[in-house]
Parts: sequence; structure tokens; C-alpha cells
Amino acid sequence: MRLYRPDLAMVGYPIADEFQHQFLGLITPVLPNGAPNPAYDDVQVNGTPDGRVARRTAFVKRAYTGADSTLDLVQELMPRNTSAFVASDHGFAPQFLAIDASKVLVDLGLLSKPQTSNCRPATGETIGKAKACWAGGTVQVYLNLQGRDPVIAGLQQVSATLEVATVDQIKSAFLALSDPNDWTRDGQAEGWQVIDRAYTKAEARYIPNGAGSTADMAHPTRTGDVVAFAYPPYQFDAATPGTLVARSAFFGQHGYVPDVQNLAANINMRATFIGGGGSVRPNVVAAGLRTIDLAPTIAYLLDVPVPQHSQGEVRLDLLRGSESRTLVPIVGLTDFHGQLEQTTAVYDNNINSPVGGSSQLATMFDEEAAAFPQRPFLFASGDNVGASPANSGLLEDRPAIDVENAWGMHATSYGNHEFDYGVERLLKHQARANFPFLGANIVDETTG
Ligand SMILES: [Zn+2]
Repeated sequence: MRLYRPDLAMVGYPIADEFQHQFLGLITPVLPNGAPNPAYDDVQVNGTPDGRVARRTAFVKRAYTGADSTLDLVQELMPRNTSAFVASDHGFAPQFLAIDASKVLVDLGLLSKPQTSNCRPATGETIGKAKACWAGGTVQVYLNLQGRDPVIAGLQQVSATLEVATVDQIKSAFLALSDPNDWTRDGQAEGWQVIDRAYTKAEARYIPNGAGSTADMAHPTRTGDVVAFAYPPYQFDAATPGTLVARSAFFGQHGYVPDVQNLAANINMRATFIGGGGSVRPNVVAAGLRTIDLAPTIAYLLDVPVPQHSQGEVRLDLLRGSESRTLVPIVGLTDFHGQLEQTTAVYDNNINSPVGGSSQLATMFDEEAAAFPQRPFLFASGDNVGASPANSGLLEDRPAIDVENAWGMHATSYGNHEFDYGVERLLKHQARANFPFLGANIVDETTG
């Protein structure tokens, strides 16, 4: 760092994560349901205490003091009073039990045998109508759906007409799970809550994220048809194939619903977000901070464009001298091409996914608008018309302009397709539109 003198140093410290995966469940006396934790000071969960609570607690504390001294070191190596942000990508919860998510699919007849690895049907699988992909407290279940997913030799597909019913079935099956084991050795199955919440892909756009806030987890192909979240002390990693619930042999996890907090049970899914020095206003307790706000805020401080795919906001409220500035949100649309109806696009591994359409876009624009304190500008960069489907094209693309009026479009620029049918058509579109067409480099050859 002394040699290269970076403007931005991104410094990772994995130990707080790693040590809590190893130890958190061994130093936590109670479960979130109020029951004594059978793994407290008992790595084998055999009723014989290990006598190691103090030492294990010291390991976790050591991880945090290590993070602190790493920050000190970086601050020493950067120019004096450099702005610093400390963030984690997740919180933590104690756990000691692993769910075999694929067992649920076997019991529903969607798989012929339990998966032996993450996200892959087992060797010799003969049904393969669904698969489970897990990470910590979250499992995503993907249907092998007729018409959407590529046909794989030897595996069966869920027929398109059964999609909704199958999703409901899987969701209900996860929510109904109950632990059949007796971890407390009182002669009775625990019956503790195993699954916290379950969502369809559409519902995954609104994962609860604390008061007045949701997180968008929905991606056209990468989000599961069902997303289920375990409840601590359960999670999905290191499962025993074919056994619904077994010991996981490690003792902390993340990936639960972000609003899960129970400090008495050492559960806090809220991530860390601390800032100081340089451009950061001192003594501000900011509401609604998200880790995804970091990239736009840092880009703003570095005076570089906000990364295109970042979904966060520049947090002016954290920054000195920014009180008088106003965030101007802009929603951009390009190449609409009079696509009034939803269509499909082929994504990852030849999966057909529905995309676009005027009504879905309207909803997305409204959702974007609702995320900002002031209404964003809706700008199009051109090619709103031309090369369009018959229901717009045969009507000289008047429907495309009507739809943009209905969205409340603020302005558009010109693309090459605006000129497809000559200036006369273009002028008609401009007259029909409730918004201006903006251009600075279009010249009429006859009049100049
Ligand atoms: Zn981790």
C-alpha cells in the first residue's frame, strides 16, 4: 500500500465469520424458542459438557479484536483521516442441525433419491422434477419445468399446467417440517420450528428486511421457484443425505431472513455498517442503511460513476457537506420497440424466461419510484418504436407512444429506429407524446 498509494483500499477480514461458524452454537445457552441449547458446551451433543465455554468465547472475541487491529493497520497505511467504512455482508446465528432439503423433494415424489451434492441430482436419479440448492439458512428449489428448462435425458419435467400446484406443494411441505429427533434426551421428538418462512419466486422480490424495508431476491432464472429459510438452530449445509435433520458438526450460520433478531439467543441477522473519518459526518445514527448502499456511496466519494448494477443509494445523509445536495433518481429505458406484450428471452443454460411487456414494466417503474423519497425521472434513450410486434407496428406504433404516455414518461432521446418511416411519422409520434423528444445533433438537410 505504501508503494502504490491506492485511492481505495478494500480490506477483508474473514476470521469473525469463520470463528462464529465454529463456535457460536457452543457458547450460546438458549435457543430462540426458549429451550436450553443441547449444543451449549457440548460439541458431540451427548450430554457431557466440554468445559470449554470460556476458551471458545475468547476465540470469538479474538476475531473481533483482530478485525479492529486490521482496521488500525489500514488506517495507518492510508493518508491521515481517510474516510473509512466497516461493513459485513451478513449477521450470524448459532446452529447445530442440518436439514437435507432434497429429502423433502424425495418425499413429494419429485426426486427418486436424495441429492449427494449441492444443486445436482444424485447419480442414477430417475425422476429429477426438481432440485435443491442451498447456502446456510436458505434453500432454493428449482423445478425442471416443461417449456422453460432444457430437456435432460433420463429426467422428467413438471408439466407447465402443474407449475403453480407443484410450487404450492413444495412450499407447504417445507413449512410443515418438524424435527423428529430427541436432542434433549427426554424421550420425545423435539417438534421445534424448522422452517421460518417460504416464498415463491414472485414473493422473493419482497424478502422482509426490517421495519418498512424489503430486499429484492428475485432474479429471472437464478432465484428458485421456492425459496425457504430455516429457523435457527437449523440450516441446510453439511446435511446427511436421506436424513431429514442430523447434526451439522459446525455451530454457526448465516442466510436466515434478514429481519431475524433474538439477542438473548445470540441471533442477529443485521449486518454491520459503521463509517468514520474524512467525509463521514460524525455522530449520525442513520436509518435504513443497507450494505448495498456502500458501492454507490463510495463511488460518489471517489467522483466516479455509480456501478450500473448496484441497487443501493448514495447515502448523502452520512456525508459532510452533502446536506444541501439532492439525489436525483433516474429510471432509464432503452429499445422498447413497441413490445406491448410480455415475451421470452433465453438466459443461463438455455432457460426460457418471461421478460418485458408494458404492464410488467409499468409495475417495475412504480416499484423503482416507490424506493426513492422523490419521484424519479423516467427517461428513454430511443428505439421506442420500429421493428415492433404487429399489435403496435400495424398501427404505426401509436400504441407504443400511448403506453409511454400512460407510464408518465418524462422525456426520450432519438434512436435510429425513430426514423424508420421518415420524418412525417416521427413528427406524428412527437405530437402524440405527452413528453419531449430531446436531441442536439439532428440536422434537417434542406433547411439546416
Ligand atoms: Zn460464513
